[in-house]
Amino acid sequence: MKRKNRDHLSLLCDIGELADLLTGSENIFTFLQRTVEMVSRHLDANVCSIYLYEQKSKELVLAATVGLNPQAVGKIRMKLGEGLVGTTLKTRKPLSVAKASADSHYKYFKEADEDRFESFLAVPIQRGEEKIGVIVVQHEEESFFLTSDINALRASASQLAGSIEGARLMMELDMGNGKENGLQERVDLKLVKGETASGGYALAPIVVYKKTQGYLLSDSAAREDDARYTLADFRDAVEMTTRQLKEMETGFVERLPESASLIFTAHFMILKDPSFINKMVDLINNSMSPPDAIRSVVNKYIRIFSSSPHAYMQEKANDVEDLGGRILRNLIQKNSKEPSIGQKRIVISKELFPSDVMKLASDEVQAIILVGGGITSHISILARSLNIPLVITDNKELLSLPGGTMAIVDADVGNIYIDPSRDVIKTHEDRQKTKKTARAIKNEMLNETLTLDGEKVSLFANINLLSEVPLALDLKAEGVGLYRTEFPFLVRSNFPTEEEQYVVYRRLLDHMDNRPVTIRTLDAGGDKILAYSEITDEDNPALGLRSIRFSLKMKEVFGQQIRAILRAGSGKKNLRIMFPMISSIDEFNQARKVVEECMEAMDEEALEFNRNPEIGMMVELPSVMETLDEFALAADFFSIGTNDFVQYMLAVDRGNKRVAEYFCPNHPSVLRSLYKIALAGQKAGIDVSVCGEMAHESEYIPFLLGIGIRSLSVNAKDLPAVQKRITGLSMVDAQAHAKSLLKEVTLAGTRKILDTFNNPSE
Ligand code: PEP
Ligand code: MG
Repeated sequence: MKRKNRDHLSLLCDIGELADLLTGSENIFTFLQRTVEMVSRHLDANVCSIYLYEQKSKELVLAATVGLNPQAVGKIRMKLGEGLVGTTLKTRKPLSVAKASADSHYKYFKEADEDRFESFLAVPIQRGEEKIGVIVVQHEEESFFLTSDINALRASASQLAGSIEGARLMMELDMGNGKENGLQERVDLKLVKGETASGGYALAPIVVYKKTQGYLLSDSAAREDDARYTLADFRDAVEMTTRQLKEMETGFVERLPESASLIFTAHFMILKDPSFINKMVDLINNSMSPPDAIRSVVNKYIRIFSSSPHAYMQEKANDVEDLGGRILRNLIQKNSKEPSIGQKRIVISKELFPSDVMKLASDEVQAIILVGGGITSHISILARSLNIPLVITDNKELLSLPGGTMAIVDADVGNIYIDPSRDVIKTHEDRQKTKKTARAIKNEMLNETLTLDGEKVSLFANINLLSEVPLALDLKAEGVGLYRTEFPFLVRSNFPTEEEQYVVYRRLLDHMDNRPVTIRTLDAGGDKILAYSEITDEDNPALGLRSIRFSLKMKEVFGQQIRAILRAGSGKKNLRIMFPMISSIDEFNQARKVVEECMEAMDEEALEFNRNPEIGMMVELPSVMETLDEFALAADFFSIGTNDFVQYMLAVDRGNKRVAEYFCPNHPSVLRSLYKIALAGQKAGIDVSVCGEMAHESEYIPFLLGIGIRSLSVNAKDLPAVQKRITGLSMVDAQAHAKSLLKEVTLAGTRKILDTFNNPSE
């Protein structure tokens, strides 16, 4: 049998250059076409096709092909379960058939001219639970495709899923109509109270950020000077927009890798959609003014997207609005530079999108005041990770303030001072001085943390977003004890792809150099609900399909995450993988098996990855208490998640203020359990650390050291206080203290011992 050497590795590398593939295509159809051409070439297939799943009709439709009759694009349709392609998406599993015409599922489409092709290999394209489509390769020869081809096609499908999904959404668009409006007033203000969404402090002149979006929607009637713009002006504006987006993307990939691609890929995708730009061109050619043509098309898109029941579709309305606003601004202000918000300002705005926050960050915005409306968790997470103070208020009068008015934003408490008095400014300046002291603390951090009697304790950082890493390093973190991978999942509207995750994890490992990095697999559910997952509607989410249970159920999502982690760890000695919320040895073994399976698959794909990560578990559930010794043999390390451990052991919701008094880490059962966990780890010779809140609570640190814990992982900002506490303790005293706590049987008794030890003078 004549067979070319199929180059799976270079296929994955080429597909990995997704952004180029996308931006290099004139539109989304050519993007899909370039994709099938690339895949067919690498797999030496006679045919490669992509079928997209239409939500509305619940049918798969042929969207791009090489090898089949090109006239069949858009015509061949099949239901879920119909034919080999429909069966692939229904079962959500790859389907490889040696002789297609003999298969019971085979369905002949005369439009396609496909009866010559016997070998058939199809892989579903999905993003989490979302069905996106199917990618198929075919060959004349029977039994042509190998297991390694299946793996390579699967890997390609998973990398392409995000972009293909965007393409699919665009293709599904119908046009509708829509308009909105909005206005503002003015009054004298002094102190405005708001709610804090991201802490910090700023003193600067204000600027009211007129969202182009508001402008865009409210001005649906033609303006007098609109007619002076030409089609050439419009095209220039589109080109300028593409250029700006590329620049912004490059800048922010470094700074905020968790979400940069999410924002910019969506924007590029819309720009590439022929019915978006071409529709505007058509309207201009039919004598509509360019600004009105933009407004008209953008408004229609927004209406369609916002009426969707799916959160990720609604989010696209924001993207369209954001992009439309940018094109309009570039058109109208063609000759002036893009309106600079003015550097180092406090920005007041009615509405903000993630891309606005990023843009503002590049203008070194000092603080943001968001007026009216709610705030998505995206925006506050972004602001926090970019260190931008953010306050939300209902006071619309702020929008009428003249630009340049001085203001103070005290986002730590949510206060806004307009035109502050000397006294208020002085208080502010004093606070700034204390901040300098905080900087001095950095310099005071010791490289090593030793107790008074010379016992070493390792201090690690808990990291949520990569932008927290520099602080952790400044404060001498010895590594990352807990990287919560939820955040790349939380700040977006759909599951991130393997590639997107890879970029984030790789950067984390690179930044931390050779220091140990513990990456915890997705801990979704409970208090960390992913808006786009269907598995959210549970009566009792804390006890529901969350965390490792969710991952083991959603093997595709889990597998992609594990692959991304292992690939990111390639060539690194510091990789540790940790499973959250483990309840039984069986579950731990199942999770470990997924790691092994991913390794096997990546071996076949000739991918580089880390073959020897340490694999450990969070100790968070009381159910592990009776099998601790066995767990200590199975796992390479333990990390105690006291937040959940206390929650589950004491049956008290960790986030419910009404039962906060029952959340007692000093409960004798909790203290004794922690001791047993530490002991089991010591017996087996594995590392046991604590990464829940207890690890930074000054009153519990002596107990934790006293029972033998020698590594703590805390939020970066808490590292100085924790180090200070430890360096002021003697281990001998800590051990005696722990011993007396472990003897006590009442809550009141342990409370008293803790108080006496921690506040000896009272
Ligand atoms: C914990 O439960 O203590 C923990 C560290 O994990 P999380 O807070 O992310 O649930
Ligand atoms: Mg937890």
